[in-house]
Amino acid sequence: MALRRDLLGELRRRVLATALEASRLGLVTMTSGNFSACDANSGLVAITPTGRPYSSMGAEDIVLVSLDGSVAEGRLPPSSETPLHLDVYAARADIRGIAHVHSVCANAVGVLGLAVPPIVGTLWKYVGGDLRTAAFKESGTAEYARHALQVMGDQRAVIMANHGLLAIGETVEQALAAAAYAEEGARIYLLARQLGQPTTHPRPNPSDMYAPDWWADE
Ligand SMILES: [Zn+2]
Repeated sequence: MALRRDLLGELRRRVLATALEASRLGLVTMTSGNFSACDANSGLVAITPTGRPYSSMGAEDIVLVSLDGSVAEGRLPPSSETPLHLDVYAARADIRGIAHVHSVCANAVGVLGLAVPPIVGTLWKYVGGDLRTAAFKESGTAEYARHALQVMGDQRAVIMANHGLLAIGETVEQALAAAAYAEEGARIYLLARQLGQPTTHPRPNPSDMYAPDWWADE
């Protein structure tokens, strides 16, 4: 039991560190965005609380929720977008981390109904190639996550039109990397489109696809 508590405490700390890093990277405005990690053994999800500035957040503010949506532990209400996270975990047993942000460049691509081709190596490495855009759906519905995952396919991130980025990973740190490089790719694409038609980066060898978990084990 003590071991389980330690593991869940560690998971909360990692979700907080990821949220702070996303804030530092400029991926979130004020309290927007939400981040979670799922513990495979207990089935509990550690997720950021709703409406709380990341800078004043402690690990104890990260909420533990069950996959059915009930709060297992936490003094604050979980993110209002918790259903999106839980639907993704329910649909994808291979996914243990989610980063969801309303980042500017990905949203600019999304509101135009565009997608980002694989223009740089990091899009291949962290996202899996192109960054696609899923049509607008009302957030919080089961159809929303299903549609986003369907458009995402084997990639690690997708733009949800008129809303933001959904990025996934085997860890929450991987999910943040996918979100950060998806946003960077969208920014490069928007800038390049001002002057001409961007070229694409060739598909790398499979061994160069998907970065290892470079940040989780600090
Ligand atoms: Zn959102």
